[in-house]
Amino acid sequence: MPVAEARPGDLIFTGPARYGVRSVGIVLDDESVVTADAMAAGVAVLDRPEDDAVLGVVRPVLGTGSAREVPSRADGELPWHCGGVDLEGGGTPGADAAAQGAAGPWGGYPNGMIPGAALCPFGPEGHVLRCDAAQAYRTLSERFARRFGAPLCVTDSYRTFDAQVDLYRRKPALAAVPGTSNHGWGLAVDLCGGVESFGTPEHRWMRANAPARGWVHPAWARQGGGREEPWHWEYTG
Ligand SMILES: [Zn+2]
Repeated sequence: MPVAEARPGDLIFTGPARYGVRSVGIVLDDESVVTADAMAAGVAVLDRPEDDAVLGVVRPVLGTGSAREVPSRADGELPWHCGGVDLEGGGTPGADAAAQGAAGPWGGYPNGMIPGAALCPFGPEGHVLRCDAAQAYRTLSERFARRFGAPLCVTDSYRTFDAQVDLYRRKPALAAVPGTSNHGWGLAVDLCGGVESFGTPEHRWMRANAPARGWVHPAWARQGGGREEPWHWEYTG
């Protein structure tokens, strides 16, 4: 394409013809380009090069190919790691969780990056959950209070991605790998006030009464379940 036809957004390649391309810039207007400039040791807005220094001008366009399926690990294959996270095998991550009625992704939001408008407070200062989970929690807490004289006590609920990273750094053995915690979906709470120990009247009451309100103690967190966390409860609707 002739230099005279260059428009904003076009790529402009410069360099003495005998050495080949020395730099590439993005045309901003008739007079300037933005480019990673070796002389300035950084990204800079410079005058558009003289015509005799321009080796070529190219207009980038989007391809018209169809989208390719994201590769995923098949069951039985070796583990896949990405950024320190073990990727699930077979199909879409989270699909298994949905099939089992477990807490998992919703609304298309990334784990721990759910906008505040999609979450609801449910009582304790500063704590939020997905709105249906918050509503169910309030009802459950009122029933708990009628039995024990005080509402449910909570230490942790929705956990942002940043908070997951911070917790993982401090307690790697206890915390979920950042981006995988069910707290990041706004569908999990950690409880106190007696519920945090197996065998207490409060814990037993929760096991008997919470599932009817959509709150369950996941199998992995139970006694002998692999990672005992009596305080951890999840909303499955
Ligand atoms: Zn928890």
